[in-house]
Amino acid sequence: MLVLGIESSCDETAAALVTADRTILAQRIASQDEAHRPYGGVVPEIAARAHAERIAPLIAATLADAGLALGDVDAIAATAGPGLIGGVMVGLVTAKALAMAGDKPLLAVNHLEGHALSPRLADPALEFPYLLLLASGGHCQLLLVEGVGRYRRLGTTIDDALGEAFDKTAKVLGLGYPGGPAVERLAATGDARKVPLPRPLLGTPEPHFSFAGLKSAVLRAREAGGHDPADIAAAFQQAAIDCVIDRTRLALALAGPVGALVVAGGVAANLAIRAALEALAAGHGLRFVAPPLALCTDNAAMIAWAGLERMAAEGGAGAGDPLDFAARPRWPLDPAAEPVRGAGV
Ligand code: ATP
Ligand code: MG
Ligand code: FE
Repeated sequence: MLVLGIESSCDETAAALVTADRTILAQRIASQDEAHRPYGGVVPEIAARAHAERIAPLIAATLADAGLALGDVDAIAATAGPGLIGGVMVGLVTAKALAMAGDKPLLAVNHLEGHALSPRLADPALEFPYLLLLASGGHCQLLLVEGVGRYRRLGTTIDDALGEAFDKTAKVLGLGYPGGPAVERLAATGDARKVPLPRPLLGTPEPHFSFAGLKSAVLRAREAGGHDPADIAAAFQQAAIDCVIDRTRLALALAGPVGALVVAGGVAANLAIRAALEALAAGHGLRFVAPPLALCTDNAAMIAWAGLERMAAEGGAGAGDPLDFAARPRWPLDPAAEPVRGAGV
């Protein structure tokens, strides 16, 4: 079974060819960092245009890399949401056209399900159920992953996502866009103890997150002057880690028996956060699983893999979505979860 995955929900245009035995035959990612850098963040209209210009040649090049043609592919999987709607539509419409032209099933994939299942692409031994921290540019959630399509949200952010807080911290410190990796690099050279910052929601009885207050405190520390930017970066990252560990520890207590603690999403690329979660898992006698760095940030291999997981769970290539499946700007993984004050779904 071979699936072509397509991703275009934010500012990466990506295509990948993945087999059911977890081999990534080829993958390409065209980042738009340069296009958005002057604005300090992703501009939706610029992103949508860039996706539209790049997607067809990118898919052709990915097929050529693997020495394959569209006819060799068993199904087409594309992100159908959540994300910037113009970009999502570009990828989804392209997938529909290819599915129609090649007479292949279309798999409309939830981008968050791509992140949530990505650790299983890299690690065949990772079985359900697991506790997942999904921390990315738009989300920060603790999910009990019980199976394909079975996600129970235990906690979420009531305001900003963790990746967003990293990006805003980078902006305040003049580190440019995208900010997460730059903050991590600078933090490694700083002393977190030199800048006191808050740990929002620490110790509260539900495993939710809040990063808006932390972000404002970073801004105030910067504006107050006198602090080394490296110390601010280190203090921010340490405060984020303390929140993440406290909230994840609580979620582990609420989740019931799980086989592993797992982290996914762009922020999972942060080695300091990974190390702290690994220590937490060890303290609970749990396996810790994190995808390789390249599978943490947006990519199409995780979208192809989510399509393969769905086909396996729903019964072969007969599974598929209708060609009129609509792109979704919002698409919670756990539709039963109560909305929590603020943004996070
Ligand atoms: P979502 O998946 O919620 O729709 P997204 O697709 O934009 O959002 P991802 O690509 O999954 O997000 O993750 C990007 C985010 O990850 C950015 O906010 C970026 O700053 C953050 N990030 C990437 N690398 C690191 C790192 N090393 N440390 C901290 N954050 C990081
Ligand atoms: Mg990006
Ligand atoms: Fe993402």
